[in-house]
Formats: sequence, structure tokens, C-alpha cells
Amino acid sequence: MHMPLPLAAVIEQLSSLPSIGPKSGLRLAVHLLSRPPQEVQELAKSIANLHQKMRFCEQCGGFSEQTLCRICANPKRDQQTVCIVEQAVDVLMMERGNHFQGRYQVLHGRLSPVDGIHASDLWLKSLDQQIEQGSIQEIILATSATVDGEATAHWLARRYQSKPLQVSRIARGVPEGGELEYLDEHTLSRALQQRIRWES
Ligand SMILES: [Zn+2]
Repeated sequence: MHMPLPLAAVIEQLSSLPSIGPKSGLRLAVHLLSRPPQEVQELAKSIANLHQKMRFCEQCGGFSEQTLCRICANPKRDQQTVCIVEQAVDVLMMERGNHFQGRYQVLHGRLSPVDGIHASDLWLKSLDQQIEQGSIQEIILATSATVDGEATAHWLARRYQSKPLQVSRIARGVPEGGELEYLDEHTLSRALQQRIRWES
């Protein structure tokens, strides 16, 4: 099949994205071609800006446009309760339901010796400082229900065991092997509300 090169290039790029195969890539590319040029340029511009305008919050490690993200900078959020998640996208998932009023700490990974991810790779510096300052009352472990996620939760619980704060784990509404990303907001907010105190 002869495919004009500019079209073929867009199809190839789109098809390389997750959950888009060559067929959907073709459909999307043809759709873009059918839209007004300005609209397509807006889309291209947003994508081009993504890396330039987004960074990680210096305090929690979540996605942000500024040094501090909107959650960390919001004085109405409960400053003393911190929910620990693996990835920045997990914060977005938790925020969907607007049920959680505390703040977050993003680890940017989970302990996985097989993949060479060790404790020193996890983003905990800022949280450690806040704990040392005595400004945290509770940490909620919301790592995934995978083997590595559980191991990470255990490690964190042991790490903060001697500190004057409560450690909780989100409830088992989270299915085995569950990444937060795939949970609906109700399951997630229930898991958070029904969190259990960590007994070591
Ligand atoms: Zn933040």
C-alpha cells in the first residue's frame, strides 16, 4: 500500500504509544487530517509544552508546574497526614475523588532488587526532614499490592516505626497485584478511608 510519507510518519509515532496499534494509529492520523489545521496545531503545541512546563514538586515529588505543587502549596490541606505512593500518576488517581485532604510523598519507584532499585533510589529526603521536624502525625502507605509494593510498605513501616507518628496501610480493597492506576476512584477512596493501623 502506498502511504504518503507525512501521514506514514504520524501513524508510526501514534502507533508507538501505549494501547494504540497500527489500525488505531491510522484512524487517529486520518482524523487529525480531517480537523481544522489550527486545532491540530493546538494539540501539537500542548504536547510540545509538556516537558517544558512540567516538573516534579520539590516537596512531594508529584507533577507540578511550579517549585511546589498545588497540593503542597494549599494551606487548607492537612499538613500532618502524608500518603506515600509509588508514582506521580498515583497522586492524580487519588485526587480524582477529592476525598483525601492530606498531602503526598511520591517514591518514584518501589524497592526491587531484581531491577536494581534500592532504598537510596526512593525519594524520601523531604519526608524525612518533615518527620525530623515533628510536623507529621500520620503516614499512610499506599504502595501497590504487588510483591515489591508490599515489600516496600514493610520496609517503610520498619523505617518509621520508632518515630512519634502513626503508620497506616490502605485497606485491602486494593486487589492483589493492583497498581493504583487501574482502580476506580470509589475503590481507592474506600481503601483510604478504611486504612488500618500498621502493627509490626
Ligand atoms: Zn507537592
